[in-house]
Amino acid sequence: MGALIRGYDWNSTSLGPPDGWPQSLKTAVRIMLSSRQPIWIGWGPDLVFFYNDPYKTIIGGKHPWALGRPTRIVWKEIWDDIAPLLETAQTGTEGTYVEERLLIMERNGYEEETYYTFSYSPIPDDYGDVGGIICANSDDTARVIGERQLKLLRELAAAATNVQTVQQACKSVSAALGANPADLPFALLYLRHAELGYELAASSGIEGEHPAAPSAIRDLFTSPWAPLLPDDTNQVTLVRNIAELFVGSSLPTGSWQRPPHQAAVVPLAIAGDTDLDGFLVVGLNPWRLLDENYERFLLLAAGQIAGAIGHASAYQQQQQRAEELAELDRAKTAFFSNISHEFRTPLTLMLGPLEELLASASTDGRDRALIDITYRNSQRLLKLVNALLDFSRIEAGRVEVKLTATDLASFTAELASLFHSTFDRAGLKLVIDCPPLIHAVAIDRDLWERVILNLMSNAFKFTLKGCVTVRVREAQERVEVVISDTGIGISAEELPHIFERFHRVSGANGRSIEGSGIGLALVHELVKLQGGDIEVASELNVGSNFRIAMPVAVANTVSGARPLTERASASAAAHEFVDLTSRSLSGTQSDEQTPEITTITEQPSELLARAGDFVPGKVLVADDNVDLCWRSLILLAVSTGALMVSINSASTADR
Ligand code: ADP
Repeated sequence: MGALIRGYDWNSTSLGPPDGWPQSLKTAVRIMLSSRQPIWIGWGPDLVFFYNDPYKTIIGGKHPWALGRPTRIVWKEIWDDIAPLLETAQTGTEGTYVEERLLIMERNGYEEETYYTFSYSPIPDDYGDVGGIICANSDDTARVIGERQLKLLRELAAAATNVQTVQQACKSVSAALGANPADLPFALLYLRHAELGYELAASSGIEGEHPAAPSAIRDLFTSPWAPLLPDDTNQVTLVRNIAELFVGSSLPTGSWQRPPHQAAVVPLAIAGDTDLDGFLVVGLNPWRLLDENYERFLLLAAGQIAGAIGHASAYQQQQQRAEELAELDRAKTAFFSNISHEFRTPLTLMLGPLEELLASASTDGRDRALIDITYRNSQRLLKLVNALLDFSRIEAGRVEVKLTATDLASFTAELASLFHSTFDRAGLKLVIDCPPLIHAVAIDRDLWERVILNLMSNAFKFTLKGCVTVRVREAQERVEVVISDTGIGISAEELPHIFERFHRVSGANGRSIEGSGIGLALVHELVKLQGGDIEVASELNVGSNFRIAMPVAVANTVSGARPLTERASASAAAHEFVDLTSRSLSGTQSDEQTPEITTITEQPSELLARAGDFVPGKVLVADDNVDLCWRSLILLAVSTGALMVSINSASTADR
């Protein structure tokens, strides 16, 4: 700039040749040229324009034309804004200082939005009067616009949180978009609607039914916006001269005095499990070009909007699915509850007469055996129905829990010991390690009974050899009850699902493959109802550990001065449960169940007479249910007229 100033024809200006310039002007120009801050100087009544190299970025396309011209010509587009300030500074007493002043300047051949912090200071001439003005500038444009855009992006990000429906997301997006009317004088968000084509889901800066903002776009090709949609989602399409598209209706102006003359269409890439798509239309800031920065900002904003909508849509779908599942679950529970109830009454009515028949002295051997099978299986069915009913009661929150401070060690030991003879018969060891506890535990005895009996019968069912240990210990205000076995174990993949309702491990090779998968789910719920926790650790072919932790009832000591606990003992139902379990799982029949065979060997004399014709043969009858095996054998014997059936009953334990 020094060279340009030296070479300039100053004779053509009011200043005349530099030789005649006042010393103060020369000094001021020298100071200006050596400064690294953008500075201009205006000298004389016309404020003839000087500027330095850093100022070239501000003067833009007017360089070098601006040198030596009156300031009011150089900055004619902002003259109205700056003239009063210059006038103040020219009075000579005080300079002016303004921060981040918006100036629509023509720096690069078009008028643009700029922000400057600048000061005008008077320069005295050689006589002490005001000779000119020196102006130091800093360009705040990039910072002011950047902060404004960042704020919008932040608001859009916030719009994505705490919204539960697409509708709510659109509402928040509208509010956020409205917060930046400078870069988005108006904005329209269209989402694809099954029937309406594209539906106006959110808007800002534009009111009512404006032709630029149709509420639905059915036909893409007649709409001003949709045909412009680019295929590539990461692209902004510029729509020029939008005023021509909407002749007769003025477009909103946002922060500015004039409406946008161009708009941009940005597709929305809505992520996630949704078939939504849409696009964003924005009226562009009339004082900015759609440059790389502006485009990037629009893409980021569109990305945030797509994120907010995708997030809300996913949440909505998830919610809907959860509600459907809950409804299904309620229906299932209601169904089980009803059906269980319907099963229970006839079963109870069957069991009564069967019990009477079994008790009657006149029921002879063969009938007794058949009745016994019927009786036991009805009982099994009733047990299952009761478990289902219990479960649906728990689900419906209808279980009444009566907590009583109990000596948990002795009660648990008593329940476990009901299995002694069952274990003995199967050659399994049962270790009951329940030393006295200091504190009582508040439990519902009925519910606890069911927990222990279920876990014990599972341990028996899934342990073919070795031992089952029941251990009770107290530590840190908790009582732990552990039932561990050396059975078949549970694989790591199955473990997380083991307490789920109806979950069964396929291929589990226990004493019986019968089961409903409801036992452990019930145990889990029953423990929770009593304020405890249950967890399981298990290793395939090594064994399983079911660990229940119950809080102690601190106020109650088992052996304190005034014991608050009474000794609990196993109910009749518990005895029945164990009896049933051992019969159905042991694979051997107890004494009174064998006479089926004798029923077909009733006429020994006849049999003996035909003994000569006896042809030995082997028939293998296989079933996972012992009762069914016996029943098949009896039918087989009767229908073939077999003389004798010898049974080689392989117990399931050794299959
Ligand atoms: P059910 O025994 O009627 O199938 P449960 O809910 O009691 O239903 O048990 C679910 C599954 O958990 C069983 O099918 C079995 O595979 C597994 N399981 C339960 N207890 C044990 C155990 N002690 N050892 C090995 N597997 C077990």
